[in-house]
Amino acid sequence: MSFESLGLRAELLRAVSEKNYTEPSPIQKQAIPLILEGRDIMGGAQTGTGKTAGFTLPMLQRLMQSDKPGKGRRPIRALVLTPTRELAAQVHESVQTYGRYLPLKSTVVFGGVSINPQKMKLIKGVDILVATPGRLLDHVSQNSVNLSKVDILILDEADRMLDMGFIRDIRKVLALLPKQKQTLLFSATFSTEIKTLANGLLTNPAVVEVARRNTASESVAQIVHPVDKIRKRELLSHLIGINNWKQVLVFTRTKHGANRLAEQLTTDGITSAAIHGNKSQGARTRALADFKSSKVRVLVATDIAARGLDIDQLPHVVNFELPNVAEDYVHRIGRTGRAGNVGEAMSLVCVDELKLLKDIERLIKREIPKNIIEGYEPDPTIKAEPINKGRDSKPKHNKRASSKRSTHKRSGTPPPPHISKNSRSKRSAARTH
Ligand code: AMP
Repeated sequence: MSFESLGLRAELLRAVSEKNYTEPSPIQKQAIPLILEGRDIMGGAQTGTGKTAGFTLPMLQRLMQSDKPGKGRRPIRALVLTPTRELAAQVHESVQTYGRYLPLKSTVVFGGVSINPQKMKLIKGVDILVATPGRLLDHVSQNSVNLSKVDILILDEADRMLDMGFIRDIRKVLALLPKQKQTLLFSATFSTEIKTLANGLLTNPAVVEVARRNTASESVAQIVHPVDKIRKRELLSHLIGINNWKQVLVFTRTKHGANRLAEQLTTDGITSAAIHGNKSQGARTRALADFKSSKVRVLVATDIAARGLDIDQLPHVVNFELPNVAEDYVHRIGRTGRAGNVGEAMSLVCVDELKLLKDIERLIKREIPKNIIEGYEPDPTIKAEPINKGRDSKPKHNKRASSKRSTHKRSGTPPPPHISKNSRSKRSAARTH
């Protein structure tokens, strides 16, 4: 099947052919015709499946088809919400890339950077706005956006937005949108929370789902190296050195741990940068750019910071520490082995983490091969200690929820009863970012 046969207009086909895509990915084949028909979509797809083009191309086409706005400032007609700044920037880049031959205007807003330049762009008028929920509400409260003309709403990585505590912000945004609109919801998982959100939001949705491009069993070779906690850093430097790895994504559980490891590796002579939620937007963008351009060999990331990063064909992913939540392991190793290449996911596991490893193996329904590296044999006399679940993490509520805005009088959508406080806080306690 070709992009031409999906019914996309010439300007979009031209932009796609310049990206050298030969054929649409499975999610694109399924979603594009349905979105062009105007259907609401419940999309099961994670980063790496081509989902961004899957919603961006038909969104652009529908904006071109719908009534041209009259005179005056152009209203926002398409709104894309994403959980993280990086994902917002990447989605906006796609909007610009695929829309380069169309007379549509777009911009992106996210927190961590000055609000005024964003306001200036919004004031000039855009057809498409890509935003993280918190900063979008900042603009709402400062009257720099009007969402009353939105025809298409896209929630990207909705599961992650809920995990990050954005549900209240999302509901506030929804209250500002017209009832009549097309809604596309994408999520890597269909939890009960997501289904409840979707039920209230989507009308007769078409469900499109693609298997994870990198299921734990297929395109990723996984291995566990048992090692004592205090020797992990030494082993990692050793592995990077002897294998001469040029580009490695390393996961730690905490922001503090990410910083410390990046510093230690740099001391070992391995150029490294850390990326996590406490870094300024500029620092995160720089770290990612340096990693992509191979200026730094190792990017140390926490789970939430790494989600949605579009780094093509990453050959090596290392779990310096196993995640507290088994599903995050699958997300982490999904960063490698893209586009049909076999990737390698390696986990350095100490005695404290054996239970986490069991949970992961239960989730992926197979045992991960173990290999003890000579010279790094674990000391059998060391006893397991409880894992510090994010010493440096604050209660995992989205900062927004406790920010000054939330003390404002709200239009008042209490958290829906289906998301029990309990289930949220349990997950919160288990995750750090
Ligand atoms: P996404 O899942 O949207 O984050 O996309 C993952 C990567 O796949 C991005 O680098 C896209 O540029 C790329 N991509 C999207 N669609 C296609 C396609 N049809 N053929 C090849 N690569 C694609």
